[in-house]
Amino acid sequence: TRSAAVQAGTVGIRVSGIGKEFRGSKALDGVDLAIHPGELIALLGPSGSGKTTLLRIIAGLEFATTGSVFFGTEDATHLTVQQRRVGFVFQHYALFKHLTVADNIAYGLSVRPRKERPPQAAIRRKVQELLELVQLDGLDRRYPAQLSGGQRQRVALARALAVEPRVLLLDEPFGALDAKVRKDLRRWLRDIHDRTGHTTIFVTHDQDEALELADRVAILANGRLEQVGTPDEIYEKPASPFVLSFLGDTVALPVEVKGGKVLLAGDPLDVDPEGAAEGRATIYLRPNEVTLAPYGTGIPGIIASQRRTVNGRRVEVRVAFSDVLIEVEVPAEQTWSVNDRVGLHLRKARLFPAD
Ligand code: ATP
Repeated sequence: TRSAAVQAGTVGIRVSGIGKEFRGSKALDGVDLAIHPGELIALLGPSGSGKTTLLRIIAGLEFATTGSVFFGTEDATHLTVQQRRVGFVFQHYALFKHLTVADNIAYGLSVRPRKERPPQAAIRRKVQELLELVQLDGLDRRYPAQLSGGQRQRVALARALAVEPRVLLLDEPFGALDAKVRKDLRRWLRDIHDRTGHTTIFVTHDQDEALELADRVAILANGRLEQVGTPDEIYEKPASPFVLSFLGDTVALPVEVKGGKVLLAGDPLDVDPEGAAEGRATIYLRPNEVTLAPYGTGIPGIIASQRRTVNGRRVEVRVAFSDVLIEVEVPAEQTWSVNDRVGLHLRKARLFPAD
């Protein structure tokens, strides 16, 4: 886990047994998740898996049908949005069009009741500090229409931070931006997080974004948590075929576990069953975890096609006895020809019981 300063006043979040029904259909079902103070966690899942609903329940914009939400040790289940003191950034920047950048950032502080409102000079200092933090100093007099999409999202983050929230909740904040800007903003957000140390929940359906950005990733599918772990744990030890295939292309082959060996079409594979139950199972191949060797070793295959990419050579291999195609990246100095017979070797056994 990457270390980050923990912001004074930020809290951990725990949700317990969260269920949510919309007119009889379950959007969330028994979700338990504990987020440490100062942690940056990504909620990752396909469309409709319940990410936004869970975030809205944590924010207090939506109430769960069952279960509880804790902010630190405080039961926040029935608190309003204002009482929870959360900072938000959404995909579609909801900046005030008629306010300058500086006034947008200051907004949350300037609308406070007079007794709680900081003096003008203190607000100006705070705005300046935040402009520097989000690297927009000099743009304070611009209006949202005069900013790029990425700059607007940075203003939105500064505005969320201005009110000293207990936690930051980000719902696909870079979702509407192009790939290059997204990538830059990811790194930028990670950097800001490491400096400010707010407990942060980041919703995304982008696997790369989640793995690159987060201390831990929580994967949702059909309203249930499939797995929670560090990016390495999620990638190296996916808990289910769903997680495995959601993280990238895989090819599935039916095998049998028998007498401590993994059999493919009756032949033993050089693969450790790692305690898998005896019986029918499925082995999943990740293209980047497969290497090619001479025929007669490993899983028999035939080179179906090949092409060179800027990074090296990619070949498409048809696995001989099973009509699947897998695209493997091989070092440029390895030369194969179409129709060559080869052996596929696996760096990792990814074995799950057959369903
Ligand atoms: P996306 O990535 O597409 O935003 P998501 O993972 O954030 O998806 P949610 O928006 O949380 O998913 O939706 C989860 C499920 O709950 C979906 O089936 C959705 O149709 C349903 N749902 C969400 N909000 C409502 C609502 N207000 N009324 C009825 N059903 C809803």
